[in-house]
Amino acid sequence: MKIVIVREQADGERRVAATPETVRKFGALGADVAIEAGAGLHASIADADYAAAGATVADRAATVANADIILGVQGPAPDSLAGAKPGAWIVAALNPFGAGDNGRARIDAYAAAGFEALAMEFMPRITRAQSMDILSSQSNLSGYKAVLDAAAEYGRAFPMMMTAAGTVSAAKLFVMGVGVAGLQAIATARRLGAQVSATDVRAATKEQIESLGAKAIFVEKVAGIEGEGAGGYATEMSDEYKAAQAELVSGHIARQDIVITTALIPGRPAPRLISDAQIATMKPGSVIVDLAVEQGGNVEGAVAGEIVERHGVKIVGHRNMPSRLAADTSALFARNLYNFLSAFWDKDKNAPVLDDEIGTAIRLTQGGKIVNERLLG
Ligand code: NAD
Repeated sequence: MKIVIVREQADGERRVAATPETVRKFGALGADVAIEAGAGLHASIADADYAAAGATVADRAATVANADIILGVQGPAPDSLAGAKPGAWIVAALNPFGAGDNGRARIDAYAAAGFEALAMEFMPRITRAQSMDILSSQSNLSGYKAVLDAAAEYGRAFPMMMTAAGTVSAAKLFVMGVGVAGLQAIATARRLGAQVSATDVRAATKEQIESLGAKAIFVEKVAGIEGEGAGGYATEMSDEYKAAQAELVSGHIARQDIVITTALIPGRPAPRLISDAQIATMKPGSVIVDLAVEQGGNVEGAVAGEIVERHGVKIVGHRNMPSRLAADTSALFARNLYNFLSAFWDKDKNAPVLDDEIGTAIRLTQGGKIVNERLLG
């Protein structure tokens, strides 16, 4: 069983799908591990560290030759995988709902080449799979980093400070979307001393917000405010709800210094939460960080990969937030992959055997065809 880790090729992608720790653990399972030279450089891991953990370090072609399992953070280009075994697994974040070369077209090419593509972002949200969930592990650090990015762009302090020359007031920070990233954003902002409030469409988050010491801002007395659908994810809300939410947010946002938005709905564009007119009501010097910018954006005028200014307010739209903390996010991503493969490892076959609901959820291609019902539907 040959497990291969390739060097990420996508622009701005600094993460790597294995660490010396996971290489060692795969070795202990009985696998041979090969890693493409330079794969860990941007995550502060030298080739020599992988070699010391038992991996063979080589160029792409030699690494991929005879591969049974190819691990990536993002999906590797199909034409760079010549030499892998027919039926080899590709395990990575495969952006299944994305259009074009780094989305659906790439998945079709994996199918055509006979690879079995496994999309880690389709990992079901069940207790057993929590340690395999890349969305959680990466979002957690994204939420943290979003607050640091906001602090770096904000020309003022976060905590209240009483000095001999007078008092500096605490920054008011509002988190919209309280999933994994939002919860970590609240906790981080609280640690930095901001006055934090937060909102979500899922009623269950109210208690979580309050337990972190933040103020919950919620739409009340509107039908269907539960907002929670399959797998604990948000659902698209009614027009009545959206209008009530816009009104509530309008009043609140004008008093905020920092807003962090994280709202996503699986398989759909991100919901629009902040309009240009609402931005115009904020104080000059305020900062908005849109963590959903690559899924269409929660904030009108946000641009992926840029910091733009509207009405004196900075709108931060960094791409690939997890990559901005590549050493830590790589370590967690690598453990998610190891936890997944090792949970299905069959000692006699010296290979993972994937035959349950997790396999059905994450398998995109098999036998030359797309097989995942979320892509077929
Ligand atoms: P997500 O990234 O899909 O969305 C971020 C947040 O945005 C969510 O809380 C969502 O409710 C919210 N949102 C969507 N539309 C909104 C709108 N119009 N206005 C305001 N907020 C809006 O969410 P996530 O971080 O993946 O977490 C979703 C849920 O899944 C959470 O309850 C989380 O605890 C749970 N979860 C479970 C597991 C597991 O059991 N394995 C793993 C991870 C997360």
